[in-house]
Amino acid sequence: MVEAIAAAQVLSEIGYLLRQQEKERFRAKAFSAASLALALERPDLDQLARTDALTSIEGVGEGIARVLNDLISTGESRYLNRLREHMNQPALADETQLDFADYKGDIHSHTDWSDGRATMLEMAEGARTMGYRYVGITDHSPRITVVHGLNAERLVAQSREMAEVQKRLDASAEGVGVALLQGIEVDILEDGALDLPDAVLEILDVVIASPHVKLRQEPAAMTARMLRAVSNPHVDVIGHPTGRRPGAREGATYDFEAVFKEAAKNGVALEIDCDPARLDLSPEMARLARDLGCDFVLDSDAHAPAEFAYVPMALWMARRAGIPKERIRNFRPDWN
Ligand SMILES: [Zn+2]
Ligand SMILES: [Zn+2]
Repeated sequence: MVEAIAAAQVLSEIGYLLRQQEKERFRAKAFSAASLALALERPDLDQLARTDALTSIEGVGEGIARVLNDLISTGESRYLNRLREHMNQPALADETQLDFADYKGDIHSHTDWSDGRATMLEMAEGARTMGYRYVGITDHSPRITVVHGLNAERLVAQSREMAEVQKRLDASAEGVGVALLQGIEVDILEDGALDLPDAVLEILDVVIASPHVKLRQEPAAMTARMLRAVSNPHVDVIGHPTGRRPGAREGATYDFEAVFKEAAKNGVALEIDCDPARLDLSPEMARLARDLGCDFVLDSDAHAPAEFAYVPMALWMARRAGIPKERIRNFRPDWN
C-alpha cells in the first residue's frame, strides 16, 4: 500500500531531478504537476491501480501511471532509483523519517495584496483545508514595485482586513481554527539592509528576509549582505536562501558556512522553499546547514490556495537532508 502523499513525494523528486536536465524540462513539469494533483486529491492509489484507472488522476498519463504502478506493487520506484544514480545523488544512511501529519502550519504565503492570485480569505481557507493551525501571510515589501509591495501604511490596512478574516474564520470553525499570522517577505537590499524600517518589522508576527535581486553579486559582497541580514534582530527566517531556480537560474554564491553559522547563532531559521520551481535550499545545502546547527522552516511560498500542497510534496527534501523533526519549526504547535 502506498499513501498518496508518499507517492506525491516520489513524483516530486523525479520532477526535481529531471528539471536539472536540459532536454527533460517538459517531463519534469509533468511530474511536478501530477505530484501536486496527488497531494491535493489524495486518491486511493491501490484501488485505482487495481481497476487500471491511475490515468484518471489529473496530469497522470501512461508514463507516470507506469511509475506509480511500479511504486504501488514494489514499494519503490526503480525509475527514481535510476535517476538518483544518474544524477549522482544516492540515498544516504542518515535520512530522516518525517510525517506530514505532524506538520502544523505554513508561514510563507502571498495574497492579492502583492503578487498572490487569491484573496486573504481564500488563502486562509486553503490553509484550513490543509488542516493547519496557523498560516503566515507574508506579502512582498515595497522595493518589489512590480508586485505592489507593502509599505507601513498598507500593512496597517492589511492588518484590519486580517482581523475581519480571522473573525469570519473563527465564526465558521469547527474544532481548532487556523490562526492568521501577519508577516512580510522583506527584500534584502544590496548592502544587506532590509526594505522596511525596524519599527515596522518589530510589530509583525513573521519576518522572512529574502534575496530577490542582484543575486550575481561578487561572493564577498554577497556574504557581507547575507551576514547583515541574519544579524538583524527582527528577522525570523531567511527565505529561499540562494534564489536559485533549478534548471533555469543558478543561485547566489556566498560563504554559506559563515552565513549559516551566524544564522544558527542568532536563531534565524533557513527556509526550504517547496515551490517546485525553487526547492531552495537544496537537500545538499540543507544538509550543510543542518551540520552547522541551523533550524529550518518548510514553506510553500503559495501564491494560490492549491499551492499549499507544495509542502507535503517536497517533504522528501528535508528527509534527504537528514533534518530531524525537532529542527523544523513548522512541526511545532507555535512555529516560533
Ligand atoms: Zn521570495
Ligand atoms: Zn514568497
